Amino acid sequence: MDNCLASRSMRHVWHPCTQMKRHEAAPPVAIDHASGPWLVDTQGRRYLDGISSWWVNLFGHSHPHIRAALAEQMQRLDHVMLAGFTHAPVVELSERLAGLTGLGHAFYGSDGASATEIALKMSAHYWRNRGQPAKHRFVGLAGGYHGETVGALSVTDIALFRDAYGPLVRLSATVPSPDARQARPGETAADVARRAAEGLEAWLQAHHTETAALILEPLVQCAAGMAMHDAEYLRLARALCDRFEVHLVVDEIAVGFGRTGSLFAHQQAGITPDFICLSKGLTGGTLPLSAVLTTDAVYAAFYDDDAARGFLHSHSYTGNPLACRAAVATLELFEQLDTLAANRQLAQRISAAFAPLAAHPRVRHARRQGMIWAWDIDTRLPDFSQRYHAAALAHGLLLRPIGPMGRTLYCMPPYLLDDAAVAHLGRAALAALDDTLLQEAALPAQEVQA
Ligand SMILES: *Cc1c(COP(=O)(O)O)cnc(C)c1O
Repeated sequence: MDNCLASRSMRHVWHPCTQMKRHEAAPPVAIDHASGPWLVDTQGRRYLDGISSWWVNLFGHSHPHIRAALAEQMQRLDHVMLAGFTHAPVVELSERLAGLTGLGHAFYGSDGASATEIALKMSAHYWRNRGQPAKHRFVGLAGGYHGETVGALSVTDIALFRDAYGPLVRLSATVPSPDARQARPGETAADVARRAAEGLEAWLQAHHTETAALILEPLVQCAAGMAMHDAEYLRLARALCDRFEVHLVVDEIAVGFGRTGSLFAHQQAGITPDFICLSKGLTGGTLPLSAVLTTDAVYAAFYDDDAARGFLHSHSYTGNPLACRAAVATLELFEQLDTLAANRQLAQRISAAFAPLAAHPRVRHARRQGMIWAWDIDTRLPDFSQRYHAAALAHGLLLRPIGPMGRTLYCMPPYLLDDAAVAHLGRAALAALDDTLLQEAALPAQEVQA
């Protein structure tokens, strides 16, 4: 631990998603540099980045192809406002995203939460332009996460992030999640999906005249604790949105760019959404950038002589050339490395390395979707997440359990891992679990009541 950097950080840096007082006992780890999947601290200790630095990194840190593209772009054009101007990186990125999704119009922001806000505003404004201004409410899934700005919180159903801001937020409706873990005896994941879709149908039946859009995370509700569902739910949701004239917004901010096995998660259901939100992996984990993709039909509803019918939304860094160039370089890597096929092989190797963990007696619901692995841990430790995180760091691995009780252990690694890294992942994740559970055994009974 670099006491100097860590203590200076605690004095002047307010860290995200952190009760700062906890850093008294466990100061932040000062990272000096990173290479491939490894983070290296100021003392030279190495940590395998098992969660891709909050799900953003795809090809390891400082990948030479992205680095070269950024260096070249920096020589040419750092930034220009996108209102009234355009440039090669934003044009090329938009063309590529259109080709990959079939949604031909890209609007840019800087973070995932701003993509959510853009999609919600665009959807409601579409209905207003179409003469149906009453359609301005939204519906999301139980446990859904779409970011933490005030507008994004209105469709985020995670109490820990939302409760303190209740009076600020115009809450949206919540319908049942198709989380496959809810399967009753004899039920398949598709059965759970059909049951959840009945809940959506009943809700839309009653409220479609005031509803602009359904927003959901396709295939994996990540922040909810890697809740995975059958693609059938997406097909049923698409059909219901069509029937009730409600937009379908798929939030691919976490699950996009190969995380679930396909380039975009919704593609596994063979559906076309009205809006796609992208961020996180979009730049390969190098620079902040988000995009909302939409259809010709939505775009046409704004295309008019009247300025007020246009989408008058902007951020200062909208379409930043460096970030767009990093995104183009990232998409080039998918082609050059045949990433989706390579990941199918890599996932087999990683699953084999995790086999002992999946078979651990305290593990429930061992599951995988593409390059996302998750295990619910049967523990009474109320602070399991912090303890596991610390134990994993001690074994040279970055993992942070999440979920409502912080008891879902998961791994979402970068896509370029050699055999040594894969072996380290399996070994360290298991050793950290055993270490954490030993702490549970050592605590007096009254201290482990949740
Ligand atoms: C991370 C995330 C967001 C928010 O993105 P930020 O860049 O953190 O604002 C939105 N939706 C999903 C599904 C996410 O995982």
